[in-house]
Amino acid sequence: MIIAGFQKTTLLDYPGQTASLIFTAGCNMRCPYCQNGELVENISGIEPIPEEEVLEHLKKRKGLITGLCISGGEPTLWFGDRGDGSFIKAVKALGINVKLDTNGTNPAVLSELISEGLLDYVAMDIKTSLEKYDMFFKDVEKIEESVKILMTSHIPFEFRTTVCDGLFTEDDAKRIAKWIRGDEPYFLQPYRETETVLNPIYKTPSKEMMERYVEIMRSDLPKVKIRG
Ligand code: SF4
Repeated sequence: MIIAGFQKTTLLDYPGQTASLIFTAGCNMRCPYCQNGELVENISGIEPIPEEEVLEHLKKRKGLITGLCISGGEPTLWFGDRGDGSFIKAVKALGINVKLDTNGTNPAVLSELISEGLLDYVAMDIKTSLEKYDMFFKDVEKIEESVKILMTSHIPFEFRTTVCDGLFTEDDAKRIAKWIRGDEPYFLQPYRETETVLNPIYKTPSKEMMERYVEIMRSDLPKVKIRG
């Protein structure tokens, strides 16, 4: 696993936990609004942060740090055929809770990590409505499968969508709400225009637009909220 970034403490990335955060390199999507362009492109130039450095930090701060958020990039690319989960096992052995951020493209790995008891929380991106998903990822069945895995799992999870003005529509809001439909947390996150965005073609949505999407989705997703 290539760990490309390491934030020692965060109160924002793992609900209810004081956590550390790592960013793995590489992704199998190219979302135009991606804020982590340097993690998903040219990963051969990245100087990896040793897993031992992260484990050592978690060990030293045990009791203060209660969770580790594994984000990316797309972290599931580093498990299954490419890794046996030994890093997560070492984290869990320290008594640290593990959260995975995923784009949902790798249901087999997601299912394996959950069934091995290696995940305590999962945040999965819902990029858009099923009808438009091939803008992001062709194998839409895999996304649907990941949604089902989470919905039938025993661990807490959330879905989240980055909302861009010019990409996300009221129709997407309606369709996503009908598809996901349920009582789990769902977060709408406004896209922010920054210098590191992969392809800055969209705009930040207005507060009114965000509120309108929440209103549209609420009857099927009662826990939908704006975050950020
Ligand atoms: S936003 Fe997430 S899924 Fe999309 S390219 Fe960036 S890291 Fe990959």
